[in-house]
Amino acid sequence: MAAPSDLDSLRERLREMDDLQAAASLLHWDQNTYLPRRGAASRGRHLATLERLLHERRVDPELRRTLERLERRSPELGELERDLLRVVSRDVERAARYPASFMVTITEHAAASFEAWGRAREEADFALMAPLLERTVELSRQYASFFPEADHLADPLIDDADEGMSVAALRPLFAHLRAALLPLVEAAIAERGEAGSQPALPLASVQEAAQMRVALRLASALGYDLDGGRQDLALHPFAIRIAQGDVRITTRVDPTDLAEALFSTLHEAGHAMYEQGLSAELNGTSLASGVSAGIHESQSRLWENLVGRSRGFWRYALPIVQRTFPELGHLDEEAAHRSVNQVRRSLVRTEADELTYNLHVIIRFDLELELLEGRLAVTDLPEAWRERYQRDLGVAPQDHLEGVLQDVHWFSGFVGGAFQGYTLGNVLSAQFFEAARSAIGDLDEQFAAGTFAPLHAWLREHVYAYGRRLPPAELVERATGRALSVEPYLSYLRDKYAPNLAREAASK
Ligand code: ZN
Repeated sequence: MAAPSDLDSLRERLREMDDLQAAASLLHWDQNTYLPRRGAASRGRHLATLERLLHERRVDPELRRTLERLERRSPELGELERDLLRVVSRDVERAARYPASFMVTITEHAAASFEAWGRAREEADFALMAPLLERTVELSRQYASFFPEADHLADPLIDDADEGMSVAALRPLFAHLRAALLPLVEAAIAERGEAGSQPALPLASVQEAAQMRVALRLASALGYDLDGGRQDLALHPFAIRIAQGDVRITTRVDPTDLAEALFSTLHEAGHAMYEQGLSAELNGTSLASGVSAGIHESQSRLWENLVGRSRGFWRYALPIVQRTFPELGHLDEEAAHRSVNQVRRSLVRTEADELTYNLHVIIRFDLELELLEGRLAVTDLPEAWRERYQRDLGVAPQDHLEGVLQDVHWFSGFVGGAFQGYTLGNVLSAQFFEAARSAIGDLDEQFAAGTFAPLHAWLREHVYAYGRRLPPAELVERATGRALSVEPYLSYLRDKYAPNLAREAASK
């Protein structure tokens, strides 16, 4: 019988690719934490080489033949093997669309662009980036050309990050969300007042190590396993799986505001807990990773916002925070809760509150579609950005740093495919949370007692353990009993930020 040996050979190939991927991930992690600036160019080359080796293995004709033989025998295979076959075939099919040289070009270009972006930010100089961004748009359009069946130039990039999603599905979803958010922001500010730009959890002096320590302690209370993880400083926080037993997070510290370190840590720990919760049987295969950008972000946002900004969490966390930072002793539970849930129409996405956050994302999503479609020139981007911020948030950037240069995404990869996941994640965070609550009861009381294990266990069973075994839409359906919907998210936001509006809506 040929099937077992083909399976063995498949698993061996995947294991080797997983090892190469682990090496690339470690280089990425280092690039974004400790790499000296002058090492950037050669690091770009190292990553491009690994990317090429991975690509060669993915499109190896022998792998394809193995997959075809296994495909014919798929009735003999177990469920796990069939899921693996589906996912590897999808990866192989997509990788075979473009030549390895294209991947090298985009990886090297991305490294150069990322490096230039650092300099451009120092001088808030968009002109420095414009030619590089024009090239990125060109390369992104070229990528789309490898998928001629796509309805929209952004679809292949979106489908890479969020399988099954498309511009046609996202446009109406985001339009609906935006239309609901604009009046909700108005109502919340009318009810609660608009916050100033003062720190949420103000500190008088720089206490970087102490901030990181308390943030990590709380992340570990939620369930982030420190024996299989670590925390470092980074300008742009991220979580990264190197391998099983090695899922790292990075944290950004604001010397004057503990909220930055705290929430960036809880956010990245949410991503990391997803990766730590993958079923061990997926290890070393293409199934051993989060399934999509949106599902990933749903977990970071769930832990950061639905848990970390809840009343119950603050009943538990405030005494811990105050033991390290006695200067926050003036806050009681209600004041702390209010302080970390302020609403403000602001300019910077990563600093935006829960309520206005998706407006920032939708602006970027719309603008990147216009860039790809050729309806917006790169040189006109700053002005389009300013207009849209004025229209949706009532504020306009004073310089490019708080405008178009703020996000790393367009300057370190493709234009397209990177932003929709944030909003999908926010939407799904509430949908998963609602399903978990109806299964395990009053979560707020559990949080107040420092009990996070039941929620963690529910998420592990219904989301994390699967890795990539189920396509995102199917995972959502199975876990929550319904298809993706913005309603749980909107009702969560209404209840929290505009209870008067929520009561009106309920009485209609
Ligand atoms: Zn995230």
